[in-house]
Amino acid sequence: MTNLIHHFVPKTEFESYEDFKENFEINIPDNFNFAFDVIDRYAETVPEKVAFIWCDDDGNEKIMTFGELKKETDKAANLFKKHGIQKGSAVILTLKSHYTFWICLPALHKLGAIAVPATHMLKERDIIYRLEKSGAVGIVGIKEGGLDLIFDEALQNIGKPDFLKFNVGGNSDGAVGWLDFEAELAESSPDFVRPTGAEAATLSDDMLYYFSSGTTGFPKMVAHNFAYPLGHILTAGYWQNVSDNGLHYTMADSGWAKCVWGKMYGQWIWGTSVFIYDYDRFDAGNMMAKIAEYGVTTFCAPPTTYRFFIKEDLSKYNFSTLQYCVVAGEPLNPEVYEKFKEFTGMQLMEGYGQTELIVCIATLPWMTPKPGSMGKPVPCYDIKIIDREGKECDVGEEGEIVVGVSENPGSENISKLPPGFFKGYKFDDEKTNDSWHDGYYHTGDTAWKDEDGYLWFVGRTDDIIKSSGYKIGPFEVESALIQHPAVLECAITGVPDPVRGQVVKATVILTKEYKDKASDELKKELQNHTKKITAPYKYPRIIEFVDELPKTISGKIRRVEIREEDEHLKKEE
Ligand code: ATP
Ligand code: MG
Repeated sequence: MTNLIHHFVPKTEFESYEDFKENFEINIPDNFNFAFDVIDRYAETVPEKVAFIWCDDDGNEKIMTFGELKKETDKAANLFKKHGIQKGSAVILTLKSHYTFWICLPALHKLGAIAVPATHMLKERDIIYRLEKSGAVGIVGIKEGGLDLIFDEALQNIGKPDFLKFNVGGNSDGAVGWLDFEAELAESSPDFVRPTGAEAATLSDDMLYYFSSGTTGFPKMVAHNFAYPLGHILTAGYWQNVSDNGLHYTMADSGWAKCVWGKMYGQWIWGTSVFIYDYDRFDAGNMMAKIAEYGVTTFCAPPTTYRFFIKEDLSKYNFSTLQYCVVAGEPLNPEVYEKFKEFTGMQLMEGYGQTELIVCIATLPWMTPKPGSMGKPVPCYDIKIIDREGKECDVGEEGEIVVGVSENPGSENISKLPPGFFKGYKFDDEKTNDSWHDGYYHTGDTAWKDEDGYLWFVGRTDDIIKSSGYKIGPFEVESALIQHPAVLECAITGVPDPVRGQVVKATVILTKEYKDKASDELKKELQNHTKKITAPYKYPRIIEFVDELPKTISGKIRRVEIREEDEHLKKEE
């Protein structure tokens, strides 16, 4: 065995979920630093072990061992240091799925600096927001979509023309002042000495600022400390079920927290290599071909990806190496679960988490999945469902998902916090205190628990519709609607109504076959279809056909935007 898990977890094998829940623990070493204590330790003991396999659509490929990665991260740390980056400096990384991300992130960890990964799809307004929120002093970025030009403009506009800027893969015409990261890296010294004393980062220092997806409002800047990577021992080991010497692929570019859920921390501690596919445009067929070609053993993606997979001819691909598939990020419609199982024989294991947390509710290896349910709480996470008065809900009763946390925001008592738990929304105490108070962290999501202890997602608390005394979660109605062949995608929202409080509205994108059949008749048909599948009071009284749904950059439906646009539908009393 060549993994490092036993340095952090005294017992890894469990007989049942109950055994796991009760007896699993993580030991957090003092001054743990992922870059030194995982990457460099592998480099010393098994330098030939593969850290990652990277490829793109143009036939380029890069395989990096831990021996090489230690060298590259040392060089990058020295390079950053030469340009003034030090403990506590924030550096933005907009590297999409370029392998340089896997060098820069640990290099910043080595310095005790703060990495601020961000998606490459940002517009000027988003960039200014991130620059101002994070107080970043530098960036390493790609030029895709003219990102470098947009950055130049944004920096000019906020009066920071002297910002430290590194490009990877060249610049757009007209970009000014960008340094060539790869050229400078090649010249940089390969020996970096681990800082000690006051220069070393402590466990509770800021290590990473990730922005949330912005589904409910402006993206929140979530701060994680140096103990955070250890929380993902749970994510990778027991939800994704990665194996020593396997090849794990999580579909997520480096701009989203899902990237570190699935492409570095937990995976490497468990000894699995990670697969990075740097594609320009998502194509389900290409992705499945890469999974087959490289022999991916475990796979993680959001529901939409599986929705696209099942539309392809899955028998064309050789998935003989693929052993385990998990899904998270949005609710999984049972329909997708069943089809995927029918085609591949594999059960999709669902997980639930947030940028603020790790995967804290999941269908774990000992459990029989219940399609549509997220699963059960992972160890070290005291998950409860509570009502508006703060009372724990009964079986079957809907309430908010909360995490019991004995510490208050700002606590440096890391061992008392659930592993992987965030520090707070940086520079926004008001938001932090809104969600984390009186012994609980409030997730803002609503769910219910069944008699077997499985948790079922209902919707974001803000998205729950209250109509004639009923509470209606959008997910259930959406799942019912999507089973109709006319519906490609849909979003359920509430429209204010003087009599009922709110009425259910469906905003629907029609499938190709039904595109030109939008009519009142079809609306009736969809309403009847919903009434047949779910409790009739949940059927959408209003249906609107659209070509597009408002989404976050990461592809989540923004129901809040539909609600805002529907303000005009509000009937006067
Ligand atoms: P913002 O907080 O900025 O509004 P966001 O909450 O979408 O955006 P993320 O942290 O990326 O940002 O996503 C976490 C959210 O995704 C959860 O709070 C939940 O609403 C949703 N989610 C994650 N996993 C699941 C799942 N298995 N089923 C249903 N919803 C899920
Ligand atoms: Mg959120």
